[in-house]
Amino acid sequence: MYHPLDTRYDAMRYQRCGRSGLKLPLISLGLWHNFGGVDTLEKARAMVRRAFDLGITHFDLANNYGPPPGSAEETFGHIFRHDLAPYRDELIISTKAGYFMWPGPYGEWGSRKYLIASLDQSLHRMGLDYVDIFYHHRPDPDTPLEETMGALDHIVRSGKAIYAGISSYSPEQTRQAAQVLKTLGTPCIIHQPNYNMFDRWIEDGLLTVLQEEGIGCIVFSPLAQGLLTDKYLSGIPAGSRAAKPHSFLKPEHITGAKLAKVQRLHDLAQARGQTLVQLALAWVLRYPTITSALIGASRPEQIEEAVGALTNTTFADTELQAIEDILAG
Ligand code: NDP
Repeated sequence: MYHPLDTRYDAMRYQRCGRSGLKLPLISLGLWHNFGGVDTLEKARAMVRRAFDLGITHFDLANNYGPPPGSAEETFGHIFRHDLAPYRDELIISTKAGYFMWPGPYGEWGSRKYLIASLDQSLHRMGLDYVDIFYHHRPDPDTPLEETMGALDHIVRSGKAIYAGISSYSPEQTRQAAQVLKTLGTPCIIHQPNYNMFDRWIEDGLLTVLQEEGIGCIVFSPLAQGLLTDKYLSGIPAGSRAAKPHSFLKPEHITGAKLAKVQRLHDLAQARGQTLVQLALAWVLRYPTITSALIGASRPEQIEEAVGALTNTTFADTELQAIEDILAG
C-alpha cells in the first residue's frame, strides 16, 4: 500500500481560488496526455504518487481524456482505488464535459442532458461519488447559457460536484455565466483558460473580468505543451508529445522563430538560476488572479522540476521587460 510522504505539505504553496473558500496548489497536475489506455499504467501511477508527495492536491481530468476517450478517468480511478482512496478528503479532483464524447445529438456541447449524463459516466469511470470541480469545457453557441449554467447548478445541488467552473469562455461569456450562476445561487469559482508565453489572450480582458467577479483562474498548457522546455532545441525527440500521432502539438508548430525565442528564454532562465520550465511557470503565476498553473507530465522528474519553480517566483522589472523583448522579437 502507498503511504504518501509526511512532508507533502512542507514546501507546496496554496492559493485561494477567487473569492471562494477553496485553496489550490500553485502547481496542479492534468491528465490530458500520458494517462490514457495507450499509456503505461505504472508510469501514470508513479506520476500521481510523486505529485501528491510534493503537495499537489489537485488532479484535473475531463470526460474525453485518453486516448481512447474516457481512459484517463479509468486510469485515475484505478490509481485512486489502489493508492489514494484513504486520502479523498485531501484531494481536489476535477472533470469536465463539452467536447465530443459519444455519438448522436446528446454527446457533446452544453445541454443539460449531456452534462448530467456525462458526469454520471465520469463518476462511474473514476469510481467516485462526487468530483470537487465540474467544468463546462467550452462555450456552446447554440444552447442557452441559462440551460448550461442551470445544469451546473443542479449538479452542485445534487452533491455530484462541490464547485462549478467554466473553461475557455471569452471575457463577455464569462461575465454572463457568472451572473446566471450567481442568480441561481451556485457561484462560478474557477475559469480554466489556455495561457503561456506564446498564447497571452487572457491578458486582453479575461483576467480583469475574473478579478472583478472574484473567480479563480487555473491556466492550462503553461509550458505550451512542452515547447517552453529545452526538449525541442535540437530536434523532436522520440516519445515526445510532438512525435506522437494523437497529439495536438504537431512538428509544424515547432518553428525556427519559436525555437530562437525558446533559446533566449532558456539563457534568461539560467541567469536567474532556474530552468526554462521553472521560468515559464513562475511567469504565468506572476498575476495574483492566477491561482494555479496546470501542468502535464510524462515522467515524475518533470513534476519535480515544475515544483522547483516555486523557490523563485518573483521577477525584477528588468527581467519582465527582457521577457517582453524576447517574445516580441
Ligand atoms: P504543459 O504545457 O505543461 O505541457 C506538458 C508537456 O510538456 C508534458 O507532457 C511534457 O511533454 C512536457 N514537459 C513537462 N515538463 C517538462 C520538463 N520538466 N522537461 C521537459 N518537458 C516537459 O501542459 P498540457 O498541455 O499537458 O496541459 C496540462 C493540463 O491542462 C492537461 O493535462 C489538462 O488537464 C489541462 N488542459 C485543459 C484544456 C481545456 O480545454 N480546459 C485543454 C488542454 C489541457 P512530453 O510528453 O513530450 O515529455
